[in-house]
Order: sequence, then structure tokens, then C-alpha cells
Amino acid sequence: MTTENDVSLSLLMTEVGEAIVYADQQWVVRYCNDVYLNGLGLGREQVIGKTPMDYQPNFSRSIFYALMEQVFRDGKAVAQIGYSTILRRWLLVRAFPLKNGALMLANDASESIVKQHLLAGKAIKDPLTGLPNKLGLTTAVDELLKANKPFTLMILGLDRFRSINDALGHAGGDMALLEISSKFQSATEPDETLYRLSADEFVVLKKQGLSGIEKRFAVFKKVAETPILLHGQSFVLSSSAGISSFPNDGADSELLLKRASLALHKAKIFGRGKLYLYVDGMETESQLQAQTESDLRRAIEDNEFRLVFQPKGDMATGQVIGAEALIRWNHPTRGLLSPISFLGVAEECRLMREIDLFVLREAARVNATWRGFGIECPVSINLSTEMLSDRGLIALVKDVFHDQNVPLNMLEIEIPEGVLMAELESSIEILASLREMGVRISMDDFGTGYSSFSYLARFNIQTLKIDRSFISGLDVSTINIKIVRAIIQMARSLELEVVAEGVETLGELNKLKELHCNTVQGYFYAKPMTSEDFISFFMIKNAVRNRMSPFSI
Ligand code: C2E
Ligand code: CA
Ligand code: CA
Repeated sequence: MTTENDVSLSLLMTEVGEAIVYADQQWVVRYCNDVYLNGLGLGREQVIGKTPMDYQPNFSRSIFYALMEQVFRDGKAVAQIGYSTILRRWLLVRAFPLKNGALMLANDASESIVKQHLLAGKAIKDPLTGLPNKLGLTTAVDELLKANKPFTLMILGLDRFRSINDALGHAGGDMALLEISSKFQSATEPDETLYRLSADEFVVLKKQGLSGIEKRFAVFKKVAETPILLHGQSFVLSSSAGISSFPNDGADSELLLKRASLALHKAKIFGRGKLYLYVDGMETESQLQAQTESDLRRAIEDNEFRLVFQPKGDMATGQVIGAEALIRWNHPTRGLLSPISFLGVAEECRLMREIDLFVLREAARVNATWRGFGIECPVSINLSTEMLSDRGLIALVKDVFHDQNVPLNMLEIEIPEGVLMAELESSIEILASLREMGVRISMDDFGTGYSSFSYLARFNIQTLKIDRSFISGLDVSTINIKIVRAIIQMARSLELEVVAEGVETLGELNKLKELHCNTVQGYFYAKPMTSEDFISFFMIKNAVRNRMSPFSI
């Protein structure tokens, strides 16, 4: 609903050519003017009463999003110059806290402000690192385009940078960025210039075509992975990269940057620590992701997720001794989706917390139901990296299980080896507190990372889950036999349980028995199933009369 005041304000704003939009703390747009609507090419009814996430697929990556978030968080007015990929213009965006919401004003800064700042040399430097920023980059790229010389853009994105910010606060995050930017800087070659693109993204502009770019990425990646010492803690970052080049991938600076960004996005979702080159078709792919992103937000509200449970069996008795909760998305049109198809996107658009919350609550609820049937069986869950480095997890776990009246030794948290190693310092205390409360910790996908003996001891974990890649074809692969035997021996000397995951055949099972593996999980024993099916499965497997015939089918 617009009032007369709003209308005159709108007219005024239209006069001055400034876009204006007001959203409440729930991000619902309560007011906007025509300049804003025209800029987006949308009608009023598509905007008012909706959140920008509803009508702007990539909103979470826009300057509006960043500033609104800042206003909601700090309650202070902020202003920033940024490039709108939708309008393809430089904008000066100002955001003010107002009546439980945020008022955003944006005007076209392409001509005036940017030029002024450029002349003064102000706008092209990033205040934190002193590196030239995005404006500096586009200016340099425009020069190269004019000269018609080949060049390559490599965007380096820091993986999991948010967890450093969460652990150390923004000041700590800034220190980490300073350190990494100076390391990147010293790794550059004479034909390369380093720019800071956004919070955790840097760009290397190389005045040459693509050849040799993989080697260059390997250098920057190594630099990013050397541990950083902050406040007495050591952090290990990693970096992914997206690449575009001129003349192959376009002939204007924004397009080239957008394409390198798309490639980076892909690297982050599918490859982490990897390099992706832009290829035709990435736009369509990213549209699909944008669709998944908005579907995901709805899915959380509409409860479209559910858990299935995969039993873990005792090698000696065949009885069920645990169950791993695995998430599924019951998508209204695409059907039942497996986690690999959406967890990457969820992580990118910061939805993992909500998903973790669901998993934790649902696991506790289901475990309480099992107990109602007299079934005492620990449930294992998988959590996101973000959650695992959040101190709030401790209280959350306690509350959720307390509410369901389920003791905490009925919960096990599975953490992939690679994640545990990367989040070393920030998770060590959290895991110790969880342990004290009785929660079990299991190291997932073991054998795919590089943990050392001493780390295994420091983490106070109880279980190693041997990664499926070593189990597959175990009975016929001498190398896998050697690896699995070594893992089992090491686990025994550290008094850890061993679970073999992904056991698919009788041959693999027999080999594992020979190697004295105590617990198995995999399609051969049981596939993931609903909680109801699990109850019957448990009752059959654990019935007294079955105890003598393990793994009978
Ligand atoms: P994971 O933790 O390693 O889980 C094991 C995956 O292997 C599961 O796939 C499971 O269904 C599958 N699997 C089990 N036995 C066999 C077998 O014998 N053969 C084969 N080929 N596969 C087997 P799923 O459910 O698709 O999950 C994939 C990954 O997604 C999981 O790997 C885990 O990293 C992640 N994930 C699943 N559920 C959740 C969740 O609730 N939260 C989080 N954060 N991640 C989850
Ligand atoms: Ca797992
Ligand atoms: Ca696993």
C-alpha cells in the first residue's frame, strides 16, 4: 500500500533519478519507487510484499544485499560504490536503518562520482589491503581491450573464509586477509597485477593468454594453504579459482569478470581448491543453480527435507549398532534429490545452518521415537563445516537432545577428515566440549585427507570411517588391502573403532572380516531407509533368534 507521502517521495526520487527501496527486517519490500522498478524491469506487484530473494535470483551476491545485511547487523548508515551487473552501471548505494528496516538509495555513479574518485585516485584502492580494487581492475582491463592484446583474468576465491571471520571476528578476518594479500602479492610475476575484488576474492590480471595458467594457480594455491598464525591459533585456508580470457571469452570487462566469476562459483561448488576455466554454457548452469537457490529457501520453510537412516552392522553378530542420518530433499517437481545435488549450492548461499538445524532436531526426534519402541541405538549425523566451527553448536546440541529427553551418548557426529584438518584450531575446543557431554565423534571419509597420528590423538575421536574408495573392490585390490590393513592396525593402537563404509559385496565383507574390521555399513548390509523401516529392520536383526546367523539375507 502506498500513501500520498510515498507517492510524492517517489516523484521526487524519480526527478532526481535515484532508485529507492525500503525493506523491513524480514527483508520484505514495503516500498519502492519507479526508478527502482524500471531498473529491474519489474512491475510493482512483483516487488511489494516480496523479498528481493524472490524476484532477484542472484540477490545474495549483490551490493544491495551486502549493505542491507550490514545495516541490519550494525544499525548504522553505510555507503558504497559498486557495479550492478543487472543495470550494467556503477552505482553509489547508501543504506540507512529506518523503522525496523533498511532504506536503500542508489544512484548512477558511472559518470560523475567514479570519474571524480578516479581522478583523486581514491576509488581505485582497497582501503584494507592497499591493493587496487574492482574499479582499478576494470580500468586496467579496458585499457588492455583498447590495445587489443590477449590477457587472462584469474579470480582467486578463499574457501571457508567465513569460518575465520566467525572464529576471530571481523578484525581477525581482516588480519588474515592482509596477510594473504601480501603473500599473493609476493607471488605475482612481472606481467601480473593483483587486485582485491570483494571480501574474500582477489584477481590476478595476467597480460598473457591462457598457457601456463594451471601452474600459476598452483603457486597461488600453495601460498593460500600455508598456515596463518593469528591470536596464537593456526589457520589453514584454501583457494579456488575461476578463469576467463580475452579474446576467447568476451570483449568487455564486465562480461569477462562475470564469466571468471561463474567459473569460480563452479569451482567452489564442485571442486574446492580447484581451478575452473570458463566454458560456454556455464550461464545456463548457473541459472539452474539460481533456481535451486530460490527453491532451497522455500524448501526450508515448507519442510521439504527428510532424513533416511542407514544402519551400521556389527561384524561378529550382524546386529544393528548404529544408524547414520542422511538428508534427502523431496522436491515438489524434481522428486527425491540426493544431497550432492544441493548441499554445494546451500553452502554457497549460506543456507547450511538451517539445514543443520533441521538435521539435528529431526535426528533427536527420531531417536526419541525409536526409544519409545525400546530401541536404544545411537544416531550419527553429518554437519556443515560452518556449524562445526560455531561455538553455539554446543548449547544447541544440549538443548535439542534435552528437549527430546534423549541422552547425548545417543548422538554421534561424523566429520570428514579433510574438514577436520582444515578447521583444526577452531573445532578442537568445540569437539572437546561435545566429547565431555558424551557426544561421540567419528572421522568420516578417512584416508582421503592427510591426518597424522598426533592429530588423531589430539582430536579425541572414537571412530574412523574408512572411505568407500578403499573398500570398493577390496577383495581384489592388493593395494587397498594393504591400506585398509594399515588403517585398522593404526586404529587399534589408538584404541579407535573402525567402520568400513560402502560395503557392497560379500567378497568385500569377507575380506573385512579377515582384516578384523568391527563394523560395516553399505548396501550389502542395508541401504538408507525411512525411520519406520529402520524400526522393523532393527527389530529383525537384533532379535535373539538371529544372533547366530550374522548377515543372513
Ligand atoms: P557420506 O557422509 O560419506 O555418506 C555416505 C554416502 O554413501 C551416502 O550418500 C550413502 O547413501 C552412500 N552409500 C552408503 N552405502 C553405500 C554403498 O554401499 N555404495 C554406494 N555406492 N554408496 C553408499 P548420500 O546420502 O547421497 O550422501 C552423500 C554425502 O552428502 C554424504 O557422504 C555426506 O557428506 C553428505 N550428507 C548427507 N546427508 C547430510 C546431512 O544431513 N548434512 C550434511 N551436512 N551432509 C550430508
Ligand atoms: Ca557420513
Ligand atoms: Ca563417508
